[in-house]
Amino acid sequence: MKWQIRRCNKCREYTLNYICPRCKTETETPIPPKFSLHDKYARYRIEKLKIHEKNNENQHEDKQKQS
Ligand SMILES: [Zn+2]
Repeated sequence: MKWQIRRCNKCREYTLNYICPRCKTETETPIPPKFSLHDKYARYRIEKLKIHEKNNENQHEDKQKQS
């Protein structure tokens, strides 16, 4: 059995307990966010990373030329 994050609907507190430690209300498992949204940001990060790597390569070449 794995631990899953749960959330209290009353005070919106995230907890691993089945009962909210604040208001003693039964907590529930929040619906996981859509994966498409994550993919969008992941792709954006990858694009940025590629550009960053390219810049680093160029800088490295410049240094070699100078020395
Ligand atoms: Zn609560």
